[in-house]
Amino acid sequence: MQSENKKILLKITDLKQWFPLGKGQYVKANDGITINIYEGETFGLVGESGCGKSTLGRTILQVYKQTDGRTVYYGRSIDEVAPKYYEKTVKNLPKLKKRMETLQEKLKAYKENYDKLSEEEKLAKTDELRKYEKEANDALIDIASVAGGFIVADDLRPVQEQYYKIIGSSRKLKKTEEKIQDIEVKLADLEYKARDDESKYSSKIEAVKKQLDGLNRNKEGDLSELNEEHAKLEEMKNTYRSNKDFERYEALLDDGIDLARLTTEEMRKLRKDLQLIFQDPYSSLNPRMSVGQIIGEGMFSHNMFKKNSPRMQEEILKVMDNCGLAPYFIHRYPHQFSGGQRQRIGIARSLAMNPTFVVCDEAVSALDVSIQSQIINLLSDLKESQNLTYLFITHDLSVVKYISDRIGVMYLGNMVELAESQELFDHPLHPYTEALLGAIPTTDAGQTKELQILEGDIPSPVNPPKGCKFHTRCKYATEKCKMVTPEWQEVRPNHFIACHHILEKNM
Ligand code: SF4
Repeated sequence: MQSENKKILLKITDLKQWFPLGKGQYVKANDGITINIYEGETFGLVGESGCGKSTLGRTILQVYKQTDGRTVYYGRSIDEVAPKYYEKTVKNLPKLKKRMETLQEKLKAYKENYDKLSEEEKLAKTDELRKYEKEANDALIDIASVAGGFIVADDLRPVQEQYYKIIGSSRKLKKTEEKIQDIEVKLADLEYKARDDESKYSSKIEAVKKQLDGLNRNKEGDLSELNEEHAKLEEMKNTYRSNKDFERYEALLDDGIDLARLTTEEMRKLRKDLQLIFQDPYSSLNPRMSVGQIIGEGMFSHNMFKKNSPRMQEEILKVMDNCGLAPYFIHRYPHQFSGGQRQRIGIARSLAMNPTFVVCDEAVSALDVSIQSQIINLLSDLKESQNLTYLFITHDLSVVKYISDRIGVMYLGNMVELAESQELFDHPLHPYTEALLGAIPTTDAGQTKELQILEGDIPSPVNPPKGCKFHTRCKYATEKCKMVTPEWQEVRPNHFIACHHILEKNM
């Protein structure tokens, strides 16, 4: 899979998940992670237990509110979701611009002083310099992702006015679409019932169809109004195109949804798109609910069907069939199933939502090896048939190699290496990945590779080592590793790494 041809589904930038312990201390479970997840790929995530991989999966899904960073989702557009934070940003554009300029000034002053330092002093100050650079860059993204090239305008008020009109039109369209969805569910139910007695329902169906036609006409009107408002905004840009910075800022315009900034209600609506499959299929299934109720719960709460309608039952059976569950299981309870079957129920529950992105968190780790491959095959088949994107989290490198297009390796809250699956196994670069690969037991005949097990314990995520967090266990560690955090960089095509040793070798 060539990443450059792929559409980004999730863009995660500098994501932090710090859990407070009190007295100013935190467990830094995720400490500045930057990755893109492409549409249709399986992104494998590996690392020792406690490295933060499960937290990362849940944070991307906003099960935990993230501490810092951006998690931008491109499965829906700003117009479609019309989130409240977007309107707030539009309202604050002049303030945000001022903040950006102040931080840029501060960075410039810091850099001037930094340049005068000795090489040794520079090493000690590198992380601080990066902090200033990040602050200034974040402030730039805050405004440019919404206003694009308009940043160059001295007076942002007309721009704000036009954005308000767009937001108004998109909210109107969203309301109409919600009504359409309700009516479509109603109509589908009536048509389902009419299969047995057509004459009884024909007049009701006619009336609902009329209502639907009217709403569809409204939708067309709303859509053209929205397009017109967008066209007016585009025209306004012509005034600023002669400014040399216009194109640079315009390139930062972003139509994705920053999940971390959504309200609970906005996120609840998007939850349908973003699903989780748990490691322990037993504790994640409500023991008092039948298989049918477990699978149908989300369908009902997301207004996809009327509760317990025959049409919903039919859909539940279809999903069960897709997941290899026999129809007569529908009235049974979780305790009546084996581990593999329970995992199939968990998968069916997630896939009933027609999601776009699924986090499989150690989804096969609790299962027997013979069952593991059946579940992996099921997940692979469903991915193809339903066009899914997976984040596949596991501590087992042999599993991740089989299923993933790309693999990210995590250590103590950070991503340390990321490459296409084959590339990572053929050319592991980071000392930690090397050690992990060396620790995979092998039964191949003639295989003489010595089993390398990492020495030492993982340091505490509350007080992680300064500089490169792996330096306490790394055989290549130098003084620089103890002081400066290695930067995340692409060293070969689509192969990213955070390690001074490798970066210097490649320079
Ligand atoms: S940065 Fe230094 S300590 Fe960290 S992995 Fe590379 S060589 Fe080892």
